[in-house]
Amino acid sequence: MNNLGCGVEVRMDSSTGFICGVANANGEERLCKACNDKLRKTWREEDRDRVRRIFVYGTLRKGFGLNPYMNAFKYLGVGKLNGYDMYSNGSYPMIVRGSSEIVGEVYEIKNGINEINILDKIECAYNRTLVRVKLNNALTDAEAYVYKGAVNNLKKIESGNWILRI
Ligand SMILES: [Zn+2]
Repeated sequence: MNNLGCGVEVRMDSSTGFICGVANANGEERLCKACNDKLRKTWREEDRDRVRRIFVYGTLRKGFGLNPYMNAFKYLGVGKLNGYDMYSNGSYPMIVRGSSEIVGEVYEIKNGINEINILDKIECAYNRTLVRVKLNNALTDAEAYVYKGAVNNLKKIESGNWILRI
C-alpha cells in the first residue's frame, strides 16, 4: 500500500473492485473517494509549494492550441495512464474511468498553485483528479482532468492517443 491510501476495498460495481492505495496486476493504483478528497484538500490548502505533476492528453499537448498554457510548467516526458477511456466531441477529447490506456504528456509545476488555477478555469468541464501515471517506466503521482459529463453520444478514441485520434 502506498502512503496515500487507506487499504480499504472499494467496490465500483458487481464485477470490479480495488483496494485503496494498492497496485493491481497492471501496476495501476487507485484511491477511494475519501482519500482522494483528503489529498486534494491537502494540496490545495496546505502544501502550495509541493512538487506536483500534471498529465495532459488533449489540446494542452505539444502541437495543439492550448499548449502555450503549459509554458508555465516543466515538460517531463510522454506518460501513460491506465484505467481510463478517451472520447471525442469532434474538437477535443475527454477521459472517463474505463479500461484503456491513455497517452499524454507529464509536466511539473514550477512556481505554485496559480499555474494550476489557470488550467482549472480552462478545464471547467473536468474534475482535476489524482492519478498514477507511468513515466520512464516508473509510476508517478499526477493529476489529470477527468470529464464530468456523460459520454454516451461521444465517439470513443480506441487508441487513447489524441495525436492518432482513432
Ligand atoms: Zn482510501
